[in-house]
Amino acid sequence: MNRVMATCLLALSAPFGVLGLPAPSQAAPCMVVTLTGTQGGPSSFQGLAGSGTLVSYGDDSNDCRAVLLQFDAGRGTSMRLSQVGVTPGDVAAVFITHVHSDHVDGLADLLQMRWMQQYKLPKIDVVCSGDAAAAGFVMSCAKLVAHTADAYVQSGEIAQRRAEDKARPAGGPADLANVRTFAATDAPQVVWSSGEVRVSAIRSAHVAGHASYRVDTPAGSVVIGGDAGNDTPAPPRASSTSAQVEALAKGAQVIVHSVIHPVMGPDGGTGFPAPIFHRQSTATDLGAMAQRSGAQHLMLTHLIPPLGAERQGPYRLPKGAITRGDYEAAVRAGGFAGGLTVGGDLSIVRLPARR
Ligand SMILES: [Zn+2]
Repeated sequence: MNRVMATCLLALSAPFGVLGLPAPSQAAPCMVVTLTGTQGGPSSFQGLAGSGTLVSYGDDSNDCRAVLLQFDAGRGTSMRLSQVGVTPGDVAAVFITHVHSDHVDGLADLLQMRWMQQYKLPKIDVVCSGDAAAAGFVMSCAKLVAHTADAYVQSGEIAQRRAEDKARPAGGPADLANVRTFAATDAPQVVWSSGEVRVSAIRSAHVAGHASYRVDTPAGSVVIGGDAGNDTPAPPRASSTSAQVEALAKGAQVIVHSVIHPVMGPDGGTGFPAPIFHRQSTATDLGAMAQRSGAQHLMLTHLIPPLGAERQGPYRLPKGAITRGDYEAAVRAGGFAGGLTVGGDLSIVRLPARR
């Protein structure tokens, strides 16, 4: 063996431990953000699932799937999760931004599946704001969860299925939920953690009890804005976006946010109610906010209107459907120069990006 070859062999053998076995490789941490539903509002259009985002964290050895967190669970969430190989039992916690049906329609389905087939697993955390009073009503995530499967109890299904398997919890799917409420504040507070994963929440405006979240992991951070809008409910104001979400997003790589296209505004001729338009964040203002916060990537979800839709529910778009390019142009007009995903169901961003 010549000297050069010996040196090469020595170099090659450096990563190997005793007995020539490979030394344990240092698996790199990673996070994947998956939009499980991108429909904006309670309308339905071309099979889009209701609002929801799956954040999974782990490392290369487990496909970034050591901890799976679901943010909102709109219509069809379990169907979208099944398309990426996730069952309700794989999810460690569900975080609710607010209790509008388009964000929680899928919760009963998730819990029912878990109750039917995976009830031996630990309870699932459901994390959300505590009861929030507004003029003449109270929005209660705790009650939503407690009553989420009442129809199945009242119909007799729960009793019938318990007759088949008495080990299923007597109270039905709601029995599997460990509800953890917090008093949402303007300053971020840690509301959930597991190992290296930490989830913080802040109060944000949209409806009473709305909260936005941030997930911090060694692979990076993502902010889930939900339907957040500005505290000032209508113009004149500097922006339609939430100052709290912007503060929460400082230093985060990814922002996931509901979006409304400016065409739905009072000047667009759609007839869309101005107060509902004003409580969302516009694509242009989100672009400006993402640029200010220094985010690398903005993921638009909960698109109002959906791509290709001639109408948003009952409101017709007089100039025709909005395209991906229309959303992109509106975001870029806000000055955002980073990565942009105009979300469709199962759009994904991974941290770090694959090379
Ligand atoms: Zn919504």
